[in-house]
This record gives sequence, C-alpha cells and structure tokens, in this order.
Amino acid sequence: STPAGLGPDHGYGPDIHHVLLSEEQIQAKIVELADQVARDYAGREVLLVGVLKGAVLFMSDFARALRLPTQMEFMAVSSYGSSTSSSGVVRILKDLDRDISDRHVLVLEDIIDSGLTLSWLLKNLGSRRPASLEVCALLRKPDAIKVEVPVRYVGFDIPNEFVVGYGLDYAERYRDLPYIGTLKPEVYGD
Ligand code: 5GP
Ligand code: MG
Ligand code: MG
Repeated sequence: STPAGLGPDHGYGPDIHHVLLSEEQIQAKIVELADQVARDYAGREVLLVGVLKGAVLFMSDFARALRLPTQMEFMAVSSYGSSTSSSGVVRILKDLDRDISDRHVLVLEDIIDSGLTLSWLLKNLGSRRPASLEVCALLRKPDAIKVEVPVRYVGFDIPNEFVVGYGLDYAERYRDLPYIGTLKPEVYGD
C-alpha cells in the first residue's frame, strides 16, 4: 500500500498500548481553549511562544482555532538530567527571534510534568518585561502540583504515565501521531 494507506496512525499502531486521547478529543479541547483565550484577550494582540519541538502541532492547531490576530515565536530549551526526569537546570538551544517587552505573551507547552522546565522558562521570559505572561499547556501530570507554576489554561490532566503523539516523542519518534497514547513496554529499551 501507499504511505497514505497507512492511515491515521502512520503505521505506529502496533507500538501503541492504549490511546489516551483521540484526535477528536484533542481537537475539541483546542477549540475550547482557543475560545477561552479569545475572550480573555479580546482587543489585544497575542504573541504565542511555542516550546520546541513538542508544542509544534499544538501551536499549529491552536493558532488556527484562535480567532485573534497572533504572532508566533519559538524557543528550544534543554533540561539537564536523565532522559525521563528533568532537573530544572535549563539551557537555551534556540532563543526567541524578537524582543517581547510590552507584548502579551502566551506560552504554549505540550506537557507539564515536574514543572521545573516551565518554572525556569517563566522566570527567564518574565525578566524580559512582557506586558503579560501566561501559559497554556495541553497536558498536565499530577507531579506538576509540587512546583508553584501558574498555568492559566490546561487542556487535560492526565495520569502519571509516559505518553507519545501529537508532538510528544519517544527517541524522536511518534511526534506525528494525531492522537496521544502510551507505548507497549517492549518498545522501550531495544
Ligand atoms: P518538566 O520540567 O515539566 O518535568 O518536563 C517537561 C518536559 O518533559 C516536556 O516538555 C516534555 O518534553 C517532557 N515530558 C514530560 N512528560 C512526558 C511524557 O509523558 N511524554 C513525553 N514524550 N515527554 C514528556
Ligand atoms: Mg515541552
Ligand atoms: Mg522529548
């Protein structure tokens, strides 16, 4: 069959243990979040800051659902620590291209786990004197409550499991899945 014939799971289906959030659930939630943001920011110009690479799909769908003029910036950060837990010590791999002073900044994050990366990011961006600074995270895990990070908009609170899809990777794979799920144990460690 043709690559298009692989269907919506891009051929990853056999690796997926459980679909946590379907494409329809994700897209419906994004419309809900975008409507809320549009009401809260009416009359203002929003600068969306996407955190690479995980937030790319979210940014793309969210910007289209948001009925407001927006501009987009991207930042890439890397958190020191093991591959499964972050340390809160963050390095900027790609900084914003523009000054954000006096701008209404809305940070788009794929997922908040410990919250350490976001906590660092908010301090960093806050020091650049934006007019306002808020966060919209598609997913949040239970540990996030341990760190005091003000997240104004959250899509889904999910269980403490490693998830992939819709921007989220395991070893750079599965970002292109339109849904979010968990991997079968045998996928890890080979
Ligand atoms: P934190 O500093 O909040 O612990 O780390 C957040 C980052 O860790 C996310 O932006 C994401 O890159 C990664 N991460 C946390 N949980 C998961 C998960 O369940 N799946 C994937 N693919 N990445 C995760
Ligand atoms: Mg992220
Ligand atoms: Mg990753």
